[in-house]
Amino acid sequence: MELFNVYPLNDITPVRALGAQLWDDRGQQYLDFYGGHAVISIGHSHPHYVQRITAQVQQIGFYSNSVHIPIQRELARKLGEVSGYEDYTLFLCNSGAEANENALKLASFHTGKSHVIAFKGAFHGRTSGAVAATDNPKIVAPFNAGHPISFLPYDLAEVERVLQEGKTCAVIIEPIQGVGGIIMPSDEFLQGLEQLCQQYGAVLIADEVQSGYGRSGKFFAHQHAGVRPGIISVAKGMGNGFPIGGILIAPEFQASYGLLGTTFGGNHLACAAALAVLEVIEQENLLAHAREMGEYLKQELLQNAGAQEVRGRGLMIGLKYDFPIKDVRDKLLSEHHIFVGNASDPTVLRLLPPLNIKRAEVDQFLQALYAIIPADVRS
Ligand code: PLP
Repeated sequence: MELFNVYPLNDITPVRALGAQLWDDRGQQYLDFYGGHAVISIGHSHPHYVQRITAQVQQIGFYSNSVHIPIQRELARKLGEVSGYEDYTLFLCNSGAEANENALKLASFHTGKSHVIAFKGAFHGRTSGAVAATDNPKIVAPFNAGHPISFLPYDLAEVERVLQEGKTCAVIIEPIQGVGGIIMPSDEFLQGLEQLCQQYGAVLIADEVQSGYGRSGKFFAHQHAGVRPGIISVAKGMGNGFPIGGILIAPEFQASYGLLGTTFGGNHLACAAALAVLEVIEQENLLAHAREMGEYLKQELLQNAGAQEVRGRGLMIGLKYDFPIKDVRDKLLSEHHIFVGNASDPTVLRLLPPLNIKRAEVDQFLQALYAIIPADVRS
């Protein structure tokens, strides 16, 4: 049997990785400035992470969500402490799309309504419920088309006009759009959204699947705006490559048996991986490091990259040019052995290095970029 061919692959087979460095089966070394769409938060093969998972493999025994799994509570406690959401509860699942599906479902149960507001250019996942909150025509199948959802611009008056109809259960927003091209609603917009959701009884869902876990320089990107969403969805950097997702749920939501559920969510290994990530973020002070490296990178790019815009916060950065960036991306990989990402906007280069990226590695990326971008663009 062959694999269903949906991913365009580079002819590279990594066999080893450490921090932001990868090696392939031919011994070629690469710098990872993308981390598989923001998945690699604490660097590849971090020794504490490897040790935590290995120890858990040895302990693994009976797994079922019908018995106590102490490591789930340990994870919930630690996540509450590190994120500043100690009074929230945690539901564990396996991916970002599943987290958003559960967030939307919970909002609908909670309010008794079904309409959803999302924003233009948003990406919330590829399963049927999550994809319904995504307006990318490439991934929305006819099957998803009937979902009651409005895609709005970042315009509070527009949001209020739809909320006034009284049908909306949730407003879902990426505090920094990832796939859309590192687009940031303003802090004031997020604050206004929180206020409107309170006023009209809708749940504010922050999709922090890509922007969370320290990527923006705070644990969650919405914390820059000082808002407190009813539900926060997480995945990607949460497990540093081990599949895990979850939603953080505000105290006013009432749990009941059977309301949400999953077979694999919260399994021992996923919890061990997620705990190791939080421990490393804390022990190595990675939020401050991400802020510092992000600021350095952004300042350099603003001065020397010749981009129309340098977007984002912390280590979630988008470079917008006035030409398609495909060639730049291809050359970074083929000539300089550096992985970076693209976005649904073909003129945006997406940078998502590990949170513990070193300054010398940032410089390596900058020198490679400057060598590729033509001098007349950079001047
Ligand atoms: N939400 C956001 C903001 C994302 O960027 C993604 C994936 O790119 C998802 C949800 C979906 O996550 P997953 O691919 O784990 O289902």
